Amino acid sequence: MDIDQLLSIDRDHAWHPYAAPGAPVYPVQSAQGCRIRLADGRELIDGMSSWWCAIHGYNHPVLNQAVRDQLAAMAHIMFGGLTHAPAVRLIKHLVDLTPAPLQHVFLCDSGSVAVEVAIKMAIQFRQAQGQPRRHRLLTIRSGYHGDTCGAMAVCDPVTGMHHLFSAILPQQVFAPAPACRFDEPCEPRHIDAFAALIARHQDELAAVILEPICQGAGGMRFYSPDYLRAVRALCDRHDVLLIADEIATGFGRTGTLFACEHAGISPDIMTVGKALTGGYMTLAATLATARVAQGISAGDPGVFMHGPTFMGNPLACAVANASIELLLQSDWQARIRRIERALQAGLAPCRDIPGVVDVRVLGAIGVVELASPVPMRSIQQRFVDLGVWIRPFGRLIYLMPPYVIDAAELDALCTAVVRVVAEGDWVPGE
Ligand SMILES: *Cc1c(COP(=O)(O)O)cnc(C)c1O
Repeated sequence: MDIDQLLSIDRDHAWHPYAAPGAPVYPVQSAQGCRIRLADGRELIDGMSSWWCAIHGYNHPVLNQAVRDQLAAMAHIMFGGLTHAPAVRLIKHLVDLTPAPLQHVFLCDSGSVAVEVAIKMAIQFRQAQGQPRRHRLLTIRSGYHGDTCGAMAVCDPVTGMHHLFSAILPQQVFAPAPACRFDEPCEPRHIDAFAALIARHQDELAAVILEPICQGAGGMRFYSPDYLRAVRALCDRHDVLLIADEIATGFGRTGTLFACEHAGISPDIMTVGKALTGGYMTLAATLATARVAQGISAGDPGVFMHGPTFMGNPLACAVANASIELLLQSDWQARIRRIERALQAGLAPCRDIPGVVDVRVLGAIGVVELASPVPMRSIQQRFVDLGVWIRPFGRLIYLMPPYVIDAAELDALCTAVVRVVAEGDWVPGE
């Protein structure tokens, strides 16, 4: 199939994420390290890690070998009534690496499913406690938790498509997005509204769900660890479970292995995904404390009611184990710090450009927030012409490169962002 044929079939038949039919797409031939090779021979430096996932870069020999080794044993086997070493090793890794109270692991096939599982765990736990009325969720605005219905219901109500699906979405409780930035203390005025909501709805709440420290696709916002500690304390006071969605933040992205560590807190339920397999295969997990797991088992019907067909897929678990071991063997903290410093220095010139309202960096995440939405089509084209893969959304141009990116590649990414923001002459109204 030549490129024209490929593009024509794609245009006529393929859906892409959140994209209008016929929106431009760039055919990829291969990817290696931090480079994406397009079918026309051009090479792009990767600034996205394929949406938080490819932390070790692409086509990594160790991860490739893990897939090959597992393939020779078995690609898949059902997890009902059977178990296997790749899944058990992964479960042990997750129990060891996440905060100590999290002891029970449910393997899922994607992040959204992990969030559904977390929500169902909280609801089944309440039912087992004889509190069936406590089935609602409290969350904060500007969140993103996935695209399935339960997850969508706790996404930001404005950016999260609620108006399209309001007829079928459960109505959840929304507190304002945290207004205290990462390096600011959380003052009473920052948490008052949340505190009032959890008190008012206590009798109907199963859990609070939020992304700890870094809100991702809902706005790329970083908030104070103090705020997260205050949320944990309020959950304890009102006996509401805390679900930490670490799908984007997990595995080092914000500078700690999990973002909860910035606040020194432990949730009752945690979701992980995205970087779990180093971007090789779709896999996620939901972890729960012994209290939650035992509570569910003690209730009716005595089992947690979920079980995906591809649960614990051995290929995905094997590459997840290899990715986690690769991460832990690397000096990942130093790498993230180096990326953080380079992003801070490299994106700083954006602050002086008209139309930029904020520049913020946390760990290996760099964000330039603009006053108005970027025109996707022309800005994407401009970045590709400059040899970088950066995919903005809304008013945000952001970088989250693979951890293995080198100084020159990072510099090229930042230079491209500063240049494109400074040009500011994209086709308006797209
Ligand atoms: C991406 C994401 C999800 C959804 O994960 P999928 O694998 O896309 O279903 C959920 N929560 C957060 C915080 C995410 O960033």
